[in-house]
Amino acid sequence: MDNLIFKRAKPKENKMATKKLPPEKLKHYEEVIRAELEESIAYIESINKEQSLGARESSGDLSSYAFHQADQGSDTNLMEQSVMMLESEREKIRQLNEALQRISDGTYGICEFCGEFIQENRLEIIPYATCCVACKEKNEDKKRRQKR
Ligand SMILES: [Zn+2]
Repeated sequence: MDNLIFKRAKPKENKMATKKLPPEKLKHYEEVIRAELEESIAYIESINKEQSLGARESSGDLSSYAFHQADQGSDTNLMEQSVMMLESEREKIRQLNEALQRISDGTYGICEFCGEFIQENRLEIIPYATCCVACKEKNEDKKRRQKR
């Protein structure tokens, strides 16, 4: 019986011989990612607060709304801008959360295309990067060619 369990456990370990960042590096990037997450969430909250204030202002009677629109057309642009920033910030949060998931999986810092380590200076700038610089450039080339 003991023999069987031993045999079953062993091959799995051999297959796991993929590249992995050392634990202290993973810990470092986890801290970087958590700090960025907190920043992004605080940023979204501040925009949400601004927007709910703006919504309250324009929810008055129609005449004052029309007046508002005619007089302060630039307000709409500002609103659109903050919606776009909100969108990209939400996307960033999604990517940061995925990066945290990869840290707990132990696959963090490995290029999803070629399986090599992602350059550390790249991770310092984009801690949620999923591929190395070479693969990113290759993919962008492909995208550009497909567009034509
Ligand atoms: Zn790569």
